[in-house]
Amino acid sequence: MSHVTDLTCLVCGKRYPPDGVAYVCPDHGNEGILSVNYDYDRIQRHISRERLARDGDPTMWRYRALLPMAPEAELPPLTVGGTPLYQTRALGASLGLRRLWVKDEGRQPTASLKDRASALAVVKAREKRAPVITTASTGNAAAALAGLCASVGQPNIIFVPASAPQAKIAQLLAFGAQVMLVEGSYDQAVELCLAAADTYGWYNRTTGFNPYMTEGKKTAAYEICEQLGWRAPQRVFVSVGDGCIIGALHKGFADLLALGWIEEIPRLMGVQAAGSNYLYTAWAQAADVLTQPPISADTVADSISAGLPRDRLKAMAAVRASEGAFIEVSDTEILAAIPELAAKAGIFAEPAAAAAHAGLVKAAARGEIGADEEIVLLSTGSGLKDVASAMQAVASRGISPQRVAPDLSAFKEMFATKARHDEETPIDRPNH
Ligand SMILES: *Cc1c(COP(=O)(O)O)cnc(C)c1O
Ligand SMILES: [Zn+2]
Repeated sequence: MSHVTDLTCLVCGKRYPPDGVAYVCPDHGNEGILSVNYDYDRIQRHISRERLARDGDPTMWRYRALLPMAPEAELPPLTVGGTPLYQTRALGASLGLRRLWVKDEGRQPTASLKDRASALAVVKAREKRAPVITTASTGNAAAALAGLCASVGQPNIIFVPASAPQAKIAQLLAFGAQVMLVEGSYDQAVELCLAAADTYGWYNRTTGFNPYMTEGKKTAAYEICEQLGWRAPQRVFVSVGDGCIIGALHKGFADLLALGWIEEIPRLMGVQAAGSNYLYTAWAQAADVLTQPPISADTVADSISAGLPRDRLKAMAAVRASEGAFIEVSDTEILAAIPELAAKAGIFAEPAAAAAHAGLVKAAARGEIGADEEIVLLSTGSGLKDVASAMQAVASRGISPQRVAPDLSAFKEMFATKARHDEETPIDRPNH
């Protein structure tokens, strides 16, 4: 038995027993996103900070008493969670911040934070003995699901926009997923996946529809606090597409607050691409996200391109309740953030992940952040996911490699010329 008590519809507040509903509130269709509630008193009997300190398991399953699963559930073997939290002094100093940390989710098995949700999806689907799992995705959720499914031999069918970066599609194909390249937007891929899953009875992992994906992703918040010695940072910067991750961070911090393990929930700073700024706009205009119409999304940061963020209710609630903010950044700022983060912290991020850094740069430049605030930047996915954008990012800063013949005298001549040239025209290297 898990410690879940019931599920609440975020639209009408109606409560359902854990087995009383498949994914969403029947009264509100796909808009009726559910939030998962727990019995914290019972949880306290199974988990404590002291017990965690003695637990040698570094994966997200160390927190399984706080997850919607039976303690004896069979786990996929890949190492999900336990990603590093680095104090990045040089990066912080360049922004006038003394306590800046970066959590690198690019270190997950399929190289993005989505593994946390997909691992739980595999557990839930096996609980239901589902023959097939499906998801719609901009790419990373798909790669994560395909990888986690491959690790347990679970058939899966994936819907991604045909425009997804090559690396993500390569992951899907290599992991053996049945890949449907949807000739349309991510939003259209979601609609098709929801309809197909309903038609064929597949288990559906889709974000902002399956209520448990928030639960998998919230383990990132647990790790942040545990890695800081059970202290919550003052702010977390995270990029936002559908809004599931930021909602999940809020849920994770709220769980820890309910357990009395932290004293305050950090201010959640949601960073959106200017070309996919549904939530930023709704927040700035104090609009109701239930009625605000979709926008047409277009950004280099494919993982946060969403015309109608599926988890917008949780995302907006997270920012408002934590007294955080939404920030929008241009594609130019996003691309510039890739070599910044890479050269000053050694962390190579895909555009959507670097967007969080671009948002931090913007907030710091506006003087909105105190020099002694403890800040965590969540880097949600690896730069290897989208090499074409990384190449574009360095090229636009005038950073280029030097071509040379395989010969020392040619090298010496080239090197001397280069030294003279660099002295005359110093380029804007990110680590200077
Ligand atoms: C999915 C994803 C995001 C955004 O998460 P949402 O839950 O859609 O807001 C950000 N960065 C990366 C790398 C992602 O894969
Ligand atoms: Zn409802």
